[in-house]
Amino acid sequence: MADAESDVRKLQVANARPDDAGRGLARLSRTSMNALGLAEGDVVEIVGRRSTPARAVLSYAEDEGLDILRLDGLQRANAGAGSGDFVEIRKAEAKPATRVVFAPAQKNLRLQGSSEALRRTFGMRPLVAGDVVSTSGQQRVDRGDLPPQLRQMLNAPAYALQEVRLAVVSTAPKGIVQITPETEIELRPEYEEPKEARRADVTYDDLGGLGVTIDQIREMVELPLRYPELFQRLGVDPPKGVLLHGPPGTGKTRLARAVANESEAQFFHIAGPEIMGSAYGESERRLREVFEEASANAPSILFIDEIDSIAPKRGQVTGEAERRLVAQLLTLMDGLEPRQNLVVIAATNRPEALDEALRRPGRFDREIIIGVPDQPGRREILGIHTRAMPLAEDVDLDELARITYGYVGADLAAITREAGIEAVRRIMPQLNLEEGTVPPEVLENLSVRRDDFIAAHKR
Ligand code: ADP
Repeated sequence: MADAESDVRKLQVANARPDDAGRGLARLSRTSMNALGLAEGDVVEIVGRRSTPARAVLSYAEDEGLDILRLDGLQRANAGAGSGDFVEIRKAEAKPATRVVFAPAQKNLRLQGSSEALRRTFGMRPLVAGDVVSTSGQQRVDRGDLPPQLRQMLNAPAYALQEVRLAVVSTAPKGIVQITPETEIELRPEYEEPKEARRADVTYDDLGGLGVTIDQIREMVELPLRYPELFQRLGVDPPKGVLLHGPPGTGKTRLARAVANESEAQFFHIAGPEIMGSAYGESERRLREVFEEASANAPSILFIDEIDSIAPKRGQVTGEAERRLVAQLLTLMDGLEPRQNLVVIAATNRPEALDEALRRPGRFDREIIIGVPDQPGRREILGIHTRAMPLAEDVDLDELARITYGYVGADLAAITREAGIEAVRRIMPQLNLEEGTVPPEVLENLSVRRDDFIAAHKR
């Protein structure tokens, strides 16, 4: 019998590399593996505020000697721990499951899928009810120009163009289980409110080329939201407003969502242009309502997209309605208590067009600049968007990163989506649409090739 010290180890959580994301791995040092009596591939249980299983694998060479555990964003959510937190890790066992029920982990996502596809995808993964897991080798097609039957088939887990996140609704037996050839698998078609809320949305792993930016926003927003007592103790007021500026499509919205998820804060979204132009007094009322709701649900992040449309320089404002809306926003910002655990993040691509009063102390007094990604940044973004794609051998993401100079994240996401569609077009002649299923051999051979990416790039 091992003594208590070698049964459990406390390790500090760090982010997974983008290439590992979605795979359910726990990367830890050889020292930790030895101390816990683990071999690579063994099942471990990770306990933070919640607990989740993973498969242990050896850390990257450069992490050796560090007492860290690398987990991806979904695993951090499943374990109830953020980067930098300490969690307990111990050896565990996965019992063979007789039954596992999955459901889409997102609202507005209807899925139809075969149990066989899910068995293939999650066969190696230890699972526990309540976890949110990401499918891999999957694609979601939402292009209107494909025949509906084909779209439906290709939306099923296991061949979606994008990753699909599923919640493990229940398992039999309970506890950590593993899917076997005998397991009965059910996929409920629609989102079910999990009993315990888990983050299924974007995390820091879903942002490429923004390493330094993520550090900045963690410090400014995540730390104060997660550890308000720390700031109170120090007598420091955390920021109320942070301004993100950068060109469209560089990931500002995604970053705001990710920081909300990672801080376990509620996320509220106001689209600048949308709130404008309502009936007299209506825009202000809506703005007030969102602020109230966000305060009532704190910790929360209120994201205002295209803030320049709400609060342009007052000299340039013509209408009375605009002037009143700017004034309302200023009042709402000033009315926020620093201890309220609400951070307003605003995004703009024209900071020079903003009313200067907005940037005074106590309002949007912090700024983060998000630029167009450089080549390594583009490579990371491409890695993220092709994470779940079956890529042919000839696809060279470094090459693609090289030839996409000037492209922002949104452009790169569009290219990978288009490349997926190209691949689907290629297999269409082999499909019998009447049958309603894609033959397994066609699926096995479905991959996205270099020429698909090149064709998508040329468009
Ligand atoms: P912005 O708010 O800056 O206009 P978004 O966050 O809305 O940009 O990005 C639009 C889409 O582009 C995202 O949903 C994502 O698919 C992709 N994207 C943009 N930037 C990145 C990034 N840095 N990493 C990964 N994907 C990105």
